[in-house]
Amino acid sequence: IDLKELGQNSGSIRVFCRERPLVQTNNLKTKSPVTVEQEKIAVESVGIKKEFSVDRVFDQESTQEDVFQEVKPILRSALDGHNVCILAFGQTGTGKTYTMEGTDGKLGIVPRAIQELFSHASEDSSSAYSFSISMLEVYLGSLSDLLAPRQPLFRPTECSTACNLSILATKSGAVEVEGLTDVSIPDLKKANQWYCRGRRARSTSWTNVNDVSSRSHCLTRITIRRHGATEEVSKLWLIDLGGSKRLLKTGASGLTMDEGKAINLSLSALGDVIAALRRKNSKLTQILSDSLGDGSKVLMVVHISPCEDDVGETVCSLSFANRAR
Ligand code: ADP
Ligand code: MG
Repeated sequence: IDLKELGQNSGSIRVFCRERPLVQTNNLKTKSPVTVEQEKIAVESVGIKKEFSVDRVFDQESTQEDVFQEVKPILRSALDGHNVCILAFGQTGTGKTYTMEGTDGKLGIVPRAIQELFSHASEDSSSAYSFSISMLEVYLGSLSDLLAPRQPLFRPTECSTACNLSILATKSGAVEVEGLTDVSIPDLKKANQWYCRGRRARSTSWTNVNDVSSRSHCLTRITIRRHGATEEVSKLWLIDLGGSKRLLKTGASGLTMDEGKAINLSLSALGDVIAALRRKNSKLTQILSDSLGDGSKVLMVVHISPCEDDVGETVCSLSFANRAR
C-alpha cells in the first residue's frame, strides 16, 4: 500500500484536536498562545503564528458527550466490518487518558464505545454480534498482557512472560499478538469488569517509580464478530499513546533516555504508518499494521495544552497530526 493509494482512499483518516482547559496551577495572567475555531487552530508565540487545520476542534468547554457524538459514526464502521483505530495523541498531561478512559462521572470514549456496541447489537435485528476484549501495554518495545490470568508485578528490566508476547501475521493477512488474552464479553457488565481490570493492571504492572503509565501506550482491542449469512470479523482499537515530553526536557539519562528513544521511535513510526503505511519497524506499528491499511478507518485525537510554556510541544503535536492527515 503506498501513499497514493491511501490518498484515493480519502476520508479514512480523520484528525480531531482537543484543547485541555486551564488548570489552577497554570499561569493565568499571560494570554493563551492558542486560538481555536471549528476546524482550525492557530498557535502564536514570539510573534510567529502557525495555523493548522483538522476535521474537528473540541475547545476547552467541550464535554465527553460532545466528543463521543463525533466518534459514533466511526463505531458504525467497526460494526459494519471495518477495522478501526482511535488514537489519543499528545503531550503528557493534555488529557489523552481523560478523553479515552474519562473519570467516574465523566466517561471517556472507551466505556462509551463499549456501551454503544452493546446497545447497537441489541437493536439490530438483522444480525447477531459477539464481542471480545484484549488489553495490552507497549513499553520500551515490550508487550504486556493486561488481562493475563495472573498479572505479576515486575519491573521493565525483569520482564516475565506476560511482556514477551510476539507478533504474528496469519495467512489471511491479519496480525495477531501471540498468546494475548482475548476474553469473550457476553454483556455490558462483564465488559466493564474486564475493562476495569485491565486499567488496574496497567497501573500496577510496571514499577510506578517513574510514572511509566504516562510513557507507555495502552491499547484496548474489541473484536467484533457479526454473524449473518457469513461471519465477519473486525477489530476496534482504542489507544492511549504515551507522551515523551518530560523525559526529553529534563535531560534524563540511563533507562529514561532509552524510554524517550523508544517512545519517539514508536511515535514517528506510527506517523510514518499513518502517512504512508510503508514502514513496520516498531511493535506498535506491527500490531496495528492490518488496522491502518486499506478499508480501515483511523481517527486520531490530538491533545494540546492552552499554556504558553507548552507552545513548543503544541506545535510539534499539531505538525505531527498534519503529517498524518
Ligand atoms: P494525559 O493522559 O494526556 O497525560 P490526563 O488525561 O491524565 O493527561 O489529564 C491530566 C489532568 O487534566 C487530569 O487530572 C484530567 O482529569 C484533567 N483533564 C484533562 N482534560 C480535561 C478536560 N477536557 N476537562 C477536564 N479535565 C481535564
Ligand atoms: Mg495518560
